[in-house]
Amino acid sequence: MKVAVIKEAAPGERRVALVPEAVAKLRAAGVEVLIESGAGDGAWFTDGAYAEAGASIVSGAEAAAEADAILMVGRPEERAISRLRPGQAVLGMLAPLADPALAARLAAAGVTAISLDLIPRTLSRTQTMDALSSQANIAGYKAAVLAAATLGRFFPLLITAAGTARPAKMLVLGTGVAGLQAIGTARRLGAVVTAYDVRPGTKAEVESLGATFLELTAVGPAAGDGGYARALTEEERQSQQDELTAHIARHDVVITTAQVPGRRPPVLVTADALKSMAAGSVVIDMGASDLGGNVEGSRPDETVITENGITVVGAGSLPSTMPAAASTMYARNISALLLYMVPDGTLAIDLSDEVHAGVVVSHDGRVIHPALTAPAEPDSAGGTARVDGAAD
Ligand code: NAD
Repeated sequence: MKVAVIKEAAPGERRVALVPEAVAKLRAAGVEVLIESGAGDGAWFTDGAYAEAGASIVSGAEAAAEADAILMVGRPEERAISRLRPGQAVLGMLAPLADPALAARLAAAGVTAISLDLIPRTLSRTQTMDALSSQANIAGYKAAVLAAATLGRFFPLLITAAGTARPAKMLVLGTGVAGLQAIGTARRLGAVVTAYDVRPGTKAEVESLGATFLELTAVGPAAGDGGYARALTEEERQSQQDELTAHIARHDVVITTAQVPGRRPPVLVTADALKSMAAGSVVIDMGASDLGGNVEGSRPDETVITENGITVVGAGSLPSTMPAAASTMYARNISALLLYMVPDGTLAIDLSDEVHAGVVVSHDGRVIHPALTAPAEPDSAGGTARVDGAAD
């Protein structure tokens, strides 16, 4: 089997799907690897390093023409899609729930689309394939470091000859993989951390990291399926925002990470909450995306300073800012999935296997993933889960 890594085309994307270390492992398993020249440049992996690991360096057109499977971090853009041919596979974080039209196009092109962001995450055999977790870990770490670098104060308590600096007070909203990593990193830097999640099960994890778990009186537990949160009702959302606003005002830094699978991120920090914060405070919105974020007024990949002096960082694509680490981890995830699905040299789709059924979006000319073939549920936030930017 031949796989090809192509250059990521999304603006600002610096990650690459395989790193040289992974090429060597795939080669040892009998998989031939083609790398589009320059694909690793953004993450400082040179063509020479890939060649030394046993890859062939080719043009983008050659990669598409020769490979049985195209490996990506994100989604194929227009030109890459036009080069795909029937029977070929494409593996990446395709985010098909946010853009079902892409799934339909890939199906129509006869392409087998395999999305790493749909991997069932609680099976022990998928732990090494869990790209959402590996990238969320990186994002959580970087969010805390970015907050420390943006805040005009110290994170730790400092006692110096010139006086004492109090430690920064940080609030983390959403304590999944990214939130817990942000807490751990901020604690290591010395911040005093409080954290909140609608899933009460995370309380023990938050406390084990030395942070305080915030319990809201207005919103009950909202754990959903598969360890994820469920979407809140309109009434719950309003109560949550109102109660959170008072807590937000007391913090120097807020990091938001809240997500509900396939839905727009919930707004947790309203414009009023931003107004209630002290000048110089920093808000890092890791939910910021084209679908909106956790912070009212945040913009993806932009930093906005409000009239009252709050720096709001739209930080939905932090893994790309640590491209070497993020690519190395992602390469392990995608290689593990590939080797799992290619047991004897060819890609063998077996929908009776939970992992295959979880990740295969289109096959044999049809969209087959149940999350895309079932009717969309209404979104309590006012739109539906499966939208392509125009959430309403
Ligand atoms: P995520 O990115 O989907 O969401 C981040 C956090 O936001 C979650 O903790 C969620 O509860 C929270 N959230 C959603 N809406 C909220 C709201 N309105 N207010 C406050 N918080 C809100 O989550 P994730 O990091 O992908 O993790 C989701 C779950 O998957 C967790 O239970 C995690 O432990 C689990 N997980 C399990 C495994 C495993 O079993 N090996 C691996 C990875 C993740």
